[in-house]
Amino acid sequence: ILVVFGTNPAPNLDLTPISFTITGLFISIGVFRFKLLDLRPIAHKILFASLKDAVIILDDKNRIVDLNPSADKIIGKMLLSPIGCRIEILHDLIPDIPNNFFELEHDQTEFTVFDHPTRHYELDITPLLNHSSKVRGRILTIRDITRRKNASLEVERANKEVKRLATFNEGIIRTITGGIVTEDDEGFFTFVNPAAATMLGYAPDELLGQHWAVIIPFDQYPIVEAADARRRRGETDHYEIELMRKDGTRLIALIGGSPNVEEGHFRGSLASFTDITELKQTEADLQRLAITDPLIDCYNRRHFFSLAEKELSRAARYERQLSAIMIDIDHFKRVNDTFGHSTGDQVLITMSKRIKDMLRAPDIFARYGGEEFVILLPETNANEAKEIANRLREKVAQPFIINDTEIALSISLGVSSKNCHDDILTIDAMLERADQALYAAKRAGRNRVMVWSVPPNKSRKSAEQDAGSSI
Ligand code: GH3
Ligand code: MG
Ligand code: MG
Repeated sequence: ILVVFGTNPAPNLDLTPISFTITGLFISIGVFRFKLLDLRPIAHKILFASLKDAVIILDDKNRIVDLNPSADKIIGKMLLSPIGCRIEILHDLIPDIPNNFFELEHDQTEFTVFDHPTRHYELDITPLLNHSSKVRGRILTIRDITRRKNASLEVERANKEVKRLATFNEGIIRTITGGIVTEDDEGFFTFVNPAAATMLGYAPDELLGQHWAVIIPFDQYPIVEAADARRRRGETDHYEIELMRKDGTRLIALIGGSPNVEEGHFRGSLASFTDITELKQTEADLQRLAITDPLIDCYNRRHFFSLAEKELSRAARYERQLSAIMIDIDHFKRVNDTFGHSTGDQVLITMSKRIKDMLRAPDIFARYGGEEFVILLPETNANEAKEIANRLREKVAQPFIINDTEIALSISLGVSSKNCHDDILTIDAMLERADQALYAAKRAGRNRVMVWSVPPNKSRKSAEQDAGSSI
């Protein structure tokens, strides 16, 4: 400049190198003092742009002055041109953010954007301070925590479900009327529900830690041992067993058991059981009622036939002898008429008992109807049956004392037999022959035994004509 305007103070001196020197000096001062060539701002800019977390810069009036692409992705959908917008607008769009959040200096909150799919974010606010620690603006960072949140929500949900199931199971186990026990692999109880303890006569928890042997009678051990072996093979099972109460009495239990297997190892078992003692008793009562006579302690007609069919086929298969005796009380109407129906009943009961007491275990005695009875005698031929019949007749002929009244009674009996080579094929046919013999005995004067027989020179006829042998 001095040279141009001709005011060079040293006209003989070329100022160009001097001015270059001075300029170079200024540039050096600039570079070192003010870090003109420093790379940091550039690096900051690149980092800011490529950050995965969203960053929003606010000025002191909470207006958005800058935001990186990650932030634009999140709030760009809500605000079309975010630069210059007041950040408080976000309150209206995201109700999760607390009201005064953007006035705070340091804080953190979480919010959810119900998009497709729903995303969860963590929002941080940090003040930008100048040299005199005055707030000149704020930095908001938004981090996508959807995966973490979903995982923790999943854990929370799973925990809730576990708690719900535990409460549910606890409720069932406490209130269920059936017994539930668990035992370890050596058979010691690890859990006993109140119903099980009550059923077995123990106080709650009294059985805990005890061995199963305390509730199993010795004679039932083989059942438990067989069940234990099945469970060790990983099988579930159902079986009936007698259990022993604390007072030594027994109950019949229906047990359902399953193994407790952890990582392929047998760790013990779980058993649920119900007391079926009464059920068993009822079942036995019904069974007895179905096969016995309601008045007299002997089989009814239907059960007689079912047993007799089996005896007949056994006799046929092994060519064994079999006989039948039909019995009818003589003039029983008179007993009823003279002493009354209920005394007649007592006579029937007492007489049946007398007959039964004289029979062998395999003999089948049944009420055939009214005051008629039938006896099936396995392994017995006609002669033996006739002898038995006569002994019965004599026994019944001894007077009965019913309600201090002496009652005389007689019976007529008809015998039929299936010999080894006989062709009798049905029980009906056998009884039909015994019946014919019985009525032959009636006709012959009662109080006697008649045996059905086939006359040698005739085809088979009714016993009425042919029941030749009487007492
Ligand atoms: P019979 O010598 O010809 O056999 O003469 P009966 O009087 O015994 O004649 P019948 O066998 O025809 O009659 C059977 C009687 O037995 C008729 C009925 O009142 C009686 N009776 C049948 N069942 C019962 C019963 O359960 N209780 C009583 N008390 N009487 C019965
Ligand atoms: Mg009769
Ligand atoms: Mg009679």
